[in-house]
Amino acid sequence: MHHIILALDFGGTKLSAAVTALPTATMGEPLAWLAHRHVFSAPSSSAESDLQTIEAMGQALLNGVQLAAVGVSFGGPVDFPTGTVRLSHHVPGWKNVPLGARLADVFGAPVAVDNDANVAALGEHRYGAGRGAADMLYITVSTGVGGGWVLGGRPWRGHEGMAGEIGHIVVDWNGPLCLCGKRGCVERLASGPYMAQDAEALLQERTERGQVLRGLWSGERAKMSGKLLAEAAGQGDDVAFEILQRGGRALGVGIGNAANLVNPQLVVLGGGVTKSGEMWWSAVRQAARETMLPEVNCEIVPAALGDDAPLWGAVALAIELL
Ligand SMILES: [Zn+2]
Repeated sequence: MHHIILALDFGGTKLSAAVTALPTATMGEPLAWLAHRHVFSAPSSSAESDLQTIEAMGQALLNGVQLAAVGVSFGGPVDFPTGTVRLSHHVPGWKNVPLGARLADVFGAPVAVDNDANVAALGEHRYGAGRGAADMLYITVSTGVGGGWVLGGRPWRGHEGMAGEIGHIVVDWNGPLCLCGKRGCVERLASGPYMAQDAEALLQERTERGQVLRGLWSGERAKMSGKLLAEAAGQGDDVAFEILQRGGRALGVGIGNAANLVNPQLVVLGGGVTKSGEMWWSAVRQAARETMLPEVNCEIVPAALGDDAPLWGAVALAIELL
């Protein structure tokens, strides 16, 4: 049998490919890539250009070596049983693309494709912060808020592969409008870009507030971020504190509701916003504790695999095929 696994990640702005050997991935040895590369996709990219780029990266890494299987993480909804991408919110041309079938043809090996949150959940469960947990929820808090379940040690995708959409649980039905059309979703309150947008609006409305944040911020939209808010909040800024607290609490209420429904033992949080500091983590944990029934207990911990979570998850997904 061949022992090489190819992992591919179609992120919102980044395309990554890496190869690893089966023993490393299955026997609890330290995780290591045999080779790894990534490129940032151009703003003008399309499904076809991204496919050609990632196929070329994969071919270059493999250099003719035979593969055992390919695992793929895709940043958008995927029909897991057929390996078909339903669409991408970032890159045009991805409507109903049979990604799994195409890559199986190109690489001559079995291919499994799933959306990035499900894949990262599996990666954290097999190799990261979720090792040993039978039932866990993984949540990425970044430009969006997405989630994936591992229940009874297996990925749990739901009837249409849409399980884990904690970002669009409503926590304030009178809240601000979300891109999905509803009000007060977790994502609307807790994701990085929405928090940045709300912080900016608050600075404009209330010119006497947020003096520390004003000092740290250059005034450019792109420079306002969860990280900047955390820095300002750490220096006592009232606007940054308010926005981060609200985001953390919204996520915590969402987690508490999910925990009441499914009773996982562990919730693993990844993504850039989780680097917002201890104040944000306390807000998440406290709101979750207040929302969960007294008999419901689950630990909320940071992800362990960092930016490589989708790729290691893709390895785990490929191994599921074998
Ligand atoms: Zn929503």
